[in-house]
Amino acid sequence: MGLFTGKKGVIFGIANERSIAWAITQALHAEGAEMGFTHLPDKDPVRPKNENKVRKLVDPIGAKFVIPCDVQKDGDLDAAFQKTSETFGKIDFVLHSVAFAPPQDLTGPVYAASREGFKTAMDISVYSLMAMTGRARPLLNAGGSILTLTYLGGEKVIPGYNLMGLCKSALESAVEYMASELGPAGIRVNALSAGPVKTISASGVGDFKKMLTLYETFAPLRRNITEEEVGKAAMFLMSSYASGISGETLHVDSGYHIMG
Ligand code: NDP
Repeated sequence: MGLFTGKKGVIFGIANERSIAWAITQALHAEGAEMGFTHLPDKDPVRPKNENKVRKLVDPIGAKFVIPCDVQKDGDLDAAFQKTSETFGKIDFVLHSVAFAPPQDLTGPVYAASREGFKTAMDISVYSLMAMTGRARPLLNAGGSILTLTYLGGEKVIPGYNLMGLCKSALESAVEYMASELGPAGIRVNALSAGPVKTISASGVGDFKKMLTLYETFAPLRRNITEEEVGKAAMFLMSSYASGISGETLHVDSGYHIMG
């Protein structure tokens, strides 16, 4: 009997085996969770690269569905939660592990970001959590939870994090407001602030390699975190063991966030 035996949910944000969402999925699966998955729609449906990459990982662990969803499209989000409802009826968790900023707007200073780049980054990285939460709310059981991924660059200036820092600040604020809005229904909303992990998204962040060295040198634990550590902590936050925790941003970063 696992912590998630009989629990059901939907996962947004697996791109490949390095994705943080995949590490979290594995921790949830180990505790008995049943899950459906989404992926960014493929441009070429004859050679569905995104779908194949996700299916290779989640089919062997008994995925209940794998469907395309571009979080910028309301119709795709409607379809994803329709599928979730048809498959599971009620659910217990939603994982939001999605972020994007156009490279040309992410690599430069914040003041040079374009209006369109800002809108795209905020839409994919912040509004998507709000849009998912609104659709998930009627499906979530009391005791259910929503979890998103954030980074310290939303709280403090981290060189190279630039526009995504603004997105993460807004995301963490959205977590707090929605935790207060959904709390009366017994639903928790939290964020996990992970230390740097080598993923596709991370490769778009300037100075990422320097960040890894910085953590090894100065974090209290004097090392970088593992994806497994993020997976387990996320699973805890989404589980009944964290039933008293909502509106929280939990740092899983070898303690780096306490350093001045
Ligand atoms: P990944 O690139 O593996 O995951 C990001 C996911 O977002 C991908 O699956 C990507 O799909 C998806 N995505 C982007 N745009 C859209 C869209 N329009 N619709 C649907 N999905 C979309 O990187 P990570 O696992 O690193 O990132 C997951 C989360 O963790 C992000 O919020 C990130 O900011 C956060 N985080 C990451 C850290 C790190 O060091 N890696 C540290 C702290 C937080 P596709 O690849 O197919 O485009």
